[in-house]
Amino acid sequence: MQPLIDNARTFGQRPEEFAKLAEGQSPQVLFITCSDSRVVPALITGARPGELFELRTAGNIVPPYASEHPTSEAATIEYAVEVLGVRDIVVCGHSHCGAVGALVRGDDLTAVPAVRDWLAHATPRPSGAVEDPAVAEGVQSHVLSQLLRLRSYPYLDKKLKDRQLSLHAWYYEVHTGAVLAHDPQTDAFAAL
Ligand SMILES: [Zn+2]
Repeated sequence: MQPLIDNARTFGQRPEEFAKLAEGQSPQVLFITCSDSRVVPALITGARPGELFELRTAGNIVPPYASEHPTSEAATIEYAVEVLGVRDIVVCGHSHCGAVGALVRGDDLTAVPAVRDWLAHATPRPSGAVEDPAVAEGVQSHVLSQLLRLRSYPYLDKKLKDRQLSLHAWYYEVHTGAVLAHDPQTDAFAAL
């Protein structure tokens, strides 16, 4: 913890760079990814403050649309699209994902009921090679399921049909730094 505190103490010594951020934000991208500490969106994309609106959830799961039961995730997505007007949503899964790995293996999660109940939103349950520590296949199919979930949000579906919004499925390798993107033409993940 101490190195983080030390950095935070000296971080605010760049007034010129940050002053204009007081005027507001206009990010073009909503970046949905896992809470995993090895995934650092600004590092991966080179985004500066104000450029990337982020939603981080365990296993980068997008919960089902339910207007009668608003969630923090739904509020973040709605604000990004309807207020900030982002034109692109990236769902970025990652290798060695603990959440997706637990789903693929069918781990017993009774000791962590909140995690268990959250992961229950992941339908269909991702499948893949259980012996693969990176769970690449499982994570990639899981990311595509989240894109389908986003399409089930009525206002997102409308914007997609009106070509005011694009969805992107990414897969990030925490051990190499490589980013793969899903190509709808070939239905395969390939290097960006
Ligand atoms: Zn993860």
